[in-house]
Amino acid sequence: MRVLVVEDEPALSLRLQRALEAAGFAVDVAHDGEDGWHLGETEPYDAIVLDLGLPRIDGVTVLKRWRDAGRSAPVLILTARGRWSEKMAGFDAGADDYMTKPFELDEVIYRVRALIRRAAGHAQPELSCGPLRLDSNAGRVTREGAPVPLTAQEFRILSYLMHHPGRVVSRTELMEHVYDRHFDADSNVLEVLLGRIRRKIGAELIRTVRGQGYRLTDRPDDA
Ligand code: CA
Repeated sequence: MRVLVVEDEPALSLRLQRALEAAGFAVDVAHDGEDGWHLGETEPYDAIVLDLGLPRIDGVTVLKRWRDAGRSAPVLILTARGRWSEKMAGFDAGADDYMTKPFELDEVIYRVRALIRRAAGHAQPELSCGPLRLDSNAGRVTREGAPVPLTAQEFRILSYLMHHPGRVVSRTELMEHVYDRHFDADSNVLEVLLGRIRRKIGAELIRTVRGQGYRLTDRPDDA
């Protein structure tokens, strides 16, 4: 899962980036409204954390532009304490949730996870597909109750597939949602990682759809 942070205070944006990365997200950071707007316009984020008070273009305007252009990624806005009018403007512009500064970093993580899950159509905190269970808050995958040890990259890939079970996910889509913009990965790396995940969870659960991509299935027999 890939998240964009748009925050102009350097210390805060760094803390957000580190906390989100430690929680298993690929993270891009923008320090002003223009860069943030551009990234949100061109990259497929699973969620966006958007400060409202930003240089160059303010957060509400950035959000309005995304929504007018049909960008539907869930957006968590950050506002200064007591600015109710700012929050309302944020929701009017298409925000999904807000947090008031100062806030607990952990709460941001929990809210971002919930937003991503909801956006993918899941109400339950635990995702399942056949014998697999993903507890995203605990960062843990089990197969028939047994823990599956995964590296951070493997977890990110499997987590994306588990948010979209039964659907063919192209190689490009998968790459775009598990790596940040500075990561120079080629699709061979992805192949290798998928091979490792298959060995850990059972090869039959991730099907390769020739020329199209990968599909996580809860019916291994259904080729
Ligand atoms: Ca600010």
